[in-house]
Amino acid sequence: MKLVLIFSALLGVSFCLETFVGHQVLRIKTRDEEEVEKLQFLESLEHLELDFWITPSNPALPVDVRVPANNVQEVKAFLESYGIEYSILIEDLQVVLDQEKQDMVESQQRERGSSSFDYGTYHTLDAIYGEMDNLVSEYRNIMSKFQIGQSYEKRPLYVLKFSTGGYNRPAIWIDAGIHSREWVTQASAIWIAKKIASGYGTDPSITSLLDKMDIFLLPVTNPDGYVYTHTQNRMWRKTRSKIPGSVCVGVDPNRNWDAGFGGPGASSNPCSESYRGPSANSEVEVRSVVNFIKDHGNIKAFLTLHSYSQLLMYPYGYKCTRPADYAELDSLGRMAARSIRSVHGTTFTVGSICTTIYQASGGSIDWSYDNGVKYSYAFELRDTGRHGFLLPANQIIPTAEETWMGLLKIMEHVRDHPY
Ligand SMILES: [Zn+2]
Repeated sequence: MKLVLIFSALLGVSFCLETFVGHQVLRIKTRDEEEVEKLQFLESLEHLELDFWITPSNPALPVDVRVPANNVQEVKAFLESYGIEYSILIEDLQVVLDQEKQDMVESQQRERGSSSFDYGTYHTLDAIYGEMDNLVSEYRNIMSKFQIGQSYEKRPLYVLKFSTGGYNRPAIWIDAGIHSREWVTQASAIWIAKKIASGYGTDPSITSLLDKMDIFLLPVTNPDGYVYTHTQNRMWRKTRSKIPGSVCVGVDPNRNWDAGFGGPGASSNPCSESYRGPSANSEVEVRSVVNFIKDHGNIKAFLTLHSYSQLLMYPYGYKCTRPADYAELDSLGRMAARSIRSVHGTTFTVGSICTTIYQASGGSIDWSYDNGVKYSYAFELRDTGRHGFLLPANQIIPTAEETWMGLLKIMEHVRDHPY
């Protein structure tokens, strides 16, 4: 193994891309709390190297898990021994990854021919940053770019600002890609940037919004992780920070916010996919957003894009009590879900994080809500598991279109309900 690693290091970066030959993604249907506990035990068996795409916690939800080829038999035997129902979502993950890669190569060739950015394909960080610059120069009247910080590996964290002027107007915050493998979110964000910029002066809703408020959009919140998903491991979720005293790398940046930090639904184990980090705000990517929001002081909505599961959620995650604005958040969430459905028929489930998925501490929208941003929502975009994180590129634009309508519904409400 060591020799292979050294050899691939000599051959260069492209050869280091981790392969997932024979890895399967299983969907497990639990019937009761007891079966959930069995799966939580399975999760604790580190030697199986399981990657839970949806973690076991709530019997009403399916559990999706990536199983390395070597352990597929053992995991299936475990499930069968307890009579727990499962099906195979992805037969061989590498086949899906090869297809995704092939699609990217082909669209890159087409893009070179036409020298325009194809919103219906996945891009590298450099390509996304390049298109952000193109948009800023094309829509100079309404759009600008600035840096709120640097990632752990010193990549810039770029925010796009959409504004028609004024001083420190009430504003909307939107971010994407805090979990790097959720590629449809970064791709949707860049589509949304163009939608906002090109809509000013032509789309009455966008125009009236931007006449009153500013919008800030951070398309790639976790750029180190995103680069890593392109060059090393497509399934990477966390940041890339080094943890003192651990061989494992990275923190789950959506367990790292100062909101119930360290509570249930986050791990203290640095090797876990939901590792909360050594302390709240330990991740510079999180800290940069926190500082920006605090310094701005007039952010009225905090909207964050994740995938997958088709959910629209509001606080809380770190506790299971209702937020003070429950009635308004819930009814606005339902209106936004209806808007989403009106575009392509995609259905979203609406509710608090705790009641919809599970208790999860240290999440961004709990932090923003507890810091005075009433309209705090987390979107989980397409799909419901057929492709999971590997959503085919031909679904990017439909996903962005419907997500946009959900965002717009919330932003219109914020515009019309100043506080
Ligand atoms: Zn996520």
